[in-house]
Amino acid sequence: MLKLVIFVAAGFLLYKLLMGDKKKKMEKSRQETEDQVEAGDMVQDPICGTYVSSDSRIRVKDGKQVHRFCSFECRDAYLERKKSGSEPS
Ligand SMILES: [Zn+2]
Repeated sequence: MLKLVIFVAAGFLLYKLLMGDKKKKMEKSRQETEDQVEAGDMVQDPICGTYVSSDSRIRVKDGKQVHRFCSFECRDAYLERKKSGSEPS
């Protein structure tokens, strides 16, 4: 019986350890993305919020601003939104 408790406790600790590590890794990659955003290497897709490389070919020029998109679907959604006039500014 005691063996079972130890086994379960060890399993739980291992689980926590693995999950904690995963979380740390996620935080690290998020930090890297933030650094790239600050450096201007990454820009946010205004449709889905995904960060895309600033040299992405999928882009739309809007006045002085250039928006970049993760996919043509997002670009089309942006153009559609712009056309219908629901985009503020
Ligand atoms: Zn997108």
